[in-house]
Amino acid sequence: MNLIFLGPNGAGKGTQARLLHQREGIPQIATGDMLRAASAAGTPLGREAERYVRAGELVPDAVMIGLVADRLQQEDTSAGFVLDGFPRTIAQAEALEAVLAGMNRHLDRVIYFEVSETTLIKRLSGRMLCRAQGHIYNVHSNLPKTPGVCDVDGSPLYTREDDRPETVRRRLQVYREQTEPLLAFYRARGLYAMLNAEGDVEAIYRVLLALIAPPVCR
Ligand code: AMP
Repeated sequence: MNLIFLGPNGAGKGTQARLLHQREGIPQIATGDMLRAASAAGTPLGREAERYVRAGELVPDAVMIGLVADRLQQEDTSAGFVLDGFPRTIAQAEALEAVLAGMNRHLDRVIYFEVSETTLIKRLSGRMLCRAQGHIYNVHSNLPKTPGVCDVDGSPLYTREDDRPETVRRRLQVYREQTEPLLAFYRARGLYAMLNAEGDVEAIYRVLLALIAPPVCR
């Protein structure tokens, strides 16, 4: 299954992609996580991306397309992948089509995570991530068992710098302007499926599995 998870920041794409990885073994290609790892490691990519990420702006298309094209060359993606946070622009979507066509692969489905603006703000304002692997918690809905510590790997939790309210507002604006047009792009290709992403993580996961289960007629 070659999937894209599309939707605004805070819609739960990362949480569901992580579950799919843990339970179905489908690798998650989360471009935000890749950039944060590059920043933490102080690589040239990380340093270049940092100022965009911090401001809630998009990293230039050419950088992101190169990053994802390289990642898709890796063997673990050959049986399927979930792209989480990519594409975010029409240019990225078109480049992805070209990269996949060049590898004789195609997308199976694009899942659009639909949530209300109120839920988004609530999720993002209370979000905490673990330092080691980016496991996601939330002060409103998904607290760790021990405050400030990841249940899975015991590493400390932190709040993303770009989850501050003013940056969140900018990221949502960027999403509306640059990423939302992708809904029509993928609807036109017959790949689009909508997922109501409000509510309980496990209930959403069950609906997600049902959405990706049937083979797509091509
Ligand atoms: P995310 O973790 O998906 O919310 O991404 C965090 C930040 O990384 C975004 O606000 C952007 O600055 C940058 N980023 C991640 N993916 C992309 C992408 N596909 N295109 C441009 N910038 C991206």
